[in-house]
Amino acid sequence: MTRLFEPHIHMYSRTTDDYEAMSKAGIEVIVQPSFWLGSPRTSVGTFEDYWEHMITFETSRAREYGIEHFVCISVNPKEAMERPLALDAMEAMKKYLDRERVVAVGELGYNLINDLEEEVFVKQMDIAAEKNMLMTVHLPHNNKPEGMRRIELILNSERGRRYNRHEILIDHNVEETIEKTLEFGMWAGLSVYPVSKLSPERAMNIIKKYGTERIMIHSAADWGPSDPLSVPLVAREMRKASFSTNEIERVTFYNAYEFFKQSSRFTWKP
Ligand SMILES: [Zn+2]
Repeated sequence: MTRLFEPHIHMYSRTTDDYEAMSKAGIEVIVQPSFWLGSPRTSVGTFEDYWEHMITFETSRAREYGIEHFVCISVNPKEAMERPLALDAMEAMKKYLDRERVVAVGELGYNLINDLEEEVFVKQMDIAAEKNMLMTVHLPHNNKPEGMRRIELILNSERGRRYNRHEILIDHNVEETIEKTLEFGMWAGLSVYPVSKLSPERAMNIIKKYGTERIMIHSAADWGPSDPLSVPLVAREMRKASFSTNEIERVTFYNAYEFFKQSSRFTWKP
């Protein structure tokens, strides 16, 4: 059976039936980044309750289905413009970063792509660097090449030298961004999602062109019409398209494992 790792899924928004289906499909381990809950936050307390819920409740909910669960903590790009709330939440966030199961700061990045978002983005990159933690970065839904260009400017700036590129995962890559992500030495996530993101065919074409090194598939499943079985779906489509087992498992398991095991708190071993 193909080994399966889901490195980006928002189980907070999913039912227990999804855990059931994911475990039967053979998904062994998942990483859940912090996301936008679907409505604006009104206080720091709602961030804290959410982070606590992911670290404790979701870890035990996953465990009941034999799935290992790890967490990335952040103030999400979509929450970055509300002041002073975003800055206060970032302060409150620091103590959650030291908890068991918290393997990265994320998702970080841009939504609308502006200076307020960037301030919260780089402040959290600095926190990650100080704590020697991994980062997961979200490319914006619209105008991804512009998001990539701004990430490039940050990495090439004076402060950018503080960030270890091998410890950064860039998620939601498309045909226009994958080359830069890999060229910078970062890891690349491909979101296979029924609408608005990549189809299995587009993901496979990217893999055909760029190879399997440092590329990983995820579902990014959330409140939207998404598919928590995107990783096994891509494994099946790759098998049909005659990729080797080794190539399939690089993108459905081992690359995600290699990335996250850089964190001392990623305690699980295959
Ligand atoms: Zn996400």
